[in-house]
Amino acid sequence: MAKRDYYEVLGVAKNASEEDIKKAYRKLAMKYHPDRNQGEGSKEAEEKFKEGKEAYEMLTDGQKRAAYDQYGHAGVDPNAGGFRGGQGAEGFGGFAEAFGDIFGDLFGGGAGGAGNGRRGAGGQQVYRGSDLSYAMEITLEEAARGKETQIRIPSWEGCETCSGSGAKPGTSAKTCGACGGSGTVHMRQGFFSIQQTCPHCHGTGKIIPEPCTTCNGAGKIKKTKTLEVKIPAGINEGMRIRSAGNGEPGVNGGPSGDLYIEIRIKQHEIFERDGDDLHCTMPVSMTTAALGGTIEVPTLGGKAEIELPEGAQHGKTFRLRGKGIKGVRSSYPGDLYCHITVETPVKLTEHQRKLLKELDKSFREAGDRHSPNAKSWTDRVKDLFK
Ligand SMILES: [Zn+2]
Ligand SMILES: [Zn+2]
Repeated sequence: MAKRDYYEVLGVAKNASEEDIKKAYRKLAMKYHPDRNQGEGSKEAEEKFKEGKEAYEMLTDGQKRAAYDQYGHAGVDPNAGGFRGGQGAEGFGGFAEAFGDIFGDLFGGGAGGAGNGRRGAGGQQVYRGSDLSYAMEITLEEAARGKETQIRIPSWEGCETCSGSGAKPGTSAKTCGACGGSGTVHMRQGFFSIQQTCPHCHGTGKIIPEPCTTCNGAGKIKKTKTLEVKIPAGINEGMRIRSAGNGEPGVNGGPSGDLYIEIRIKQHEIFERDGDDLHCTMPVSMTTAALGGTIEVPTLGGKAEIELPEGAQHGKTFRLRGKGIKGVRSSYPGDLYCHITVETPVKLTEHQRKLLKELDKSFREAGDRHSPNAKSWTDRVKDLFK
């Protein structure tokens, strides 16, 4: 099939201004945009869309347009290797790139963030619904093991009174006069024409003179629904679980936003979490620390034992391998660190005081050989005053 004339493709005259070419391309791209042409005829629409894009790019580039006017397709054929100039030497592949230039303002950054508008089938501005955020507080045990739970989230149902139109029964919505129903208005600023959401109708293209009293003109009613949530084992503070499509509904048939469940973990009585590791502080009596022995330590999965050696010092840390938490993306569980604090006895009885005094006397007579920290400290102080 012979390549069609670029002016013919866009339906503009040979002497059309750049503004006219842009306008014609915009119209054509709207019609054949892949978002609006799915299913039957989509292949044909895609061809038309590409053809229009190529024509637009050629005719809005001064050099290329001049070459085309003089030599026809041979002057600018991107595949012929003949004339190449300017910057537009890229292929005609992705649709995404087509949105980059003049459609940047209209299509936003693709299907991403909330509030990105594009045209829907009715010619009105279409918006994706906002994302919703839900904070959920769970215990450390629940975070470690995972949890299945239910939450109540807002949902929207079409209003029965007005059948979703938002207009009082017997009345109807009118086309917005400010934007002519398109949902967008053009603002001229010097050389530029800026397109923006119509402030009068907020992009819906409609004005409701007498709103439905049930839904206050929204056409939908906020309700709640129950959502099953599966929290994966190992989840950590601040992580988010995404529930696609459970956010606010879109405007004019746009897609719904997403729901994000943000995890907060309650402070634990015993354990502190650091990534996949757990830490706990274990008080040990002065005599147990001195004599050594088996002590029982708590873990998330039950009890464990530590062999405390004779003469364990305050601040000594024991590592229990694999007794931490297995993170969401970890292959192995972390460790549990038990930090020993040696406790000084209080509320002594007469008998205990007597025993301790005896013990103290015995220690003093032996010099500093029973106090390794004090010995090294005294040595360092001595060095300081040498
Ligand atoms: Zn209603
Ligand atoms: Zn409007």
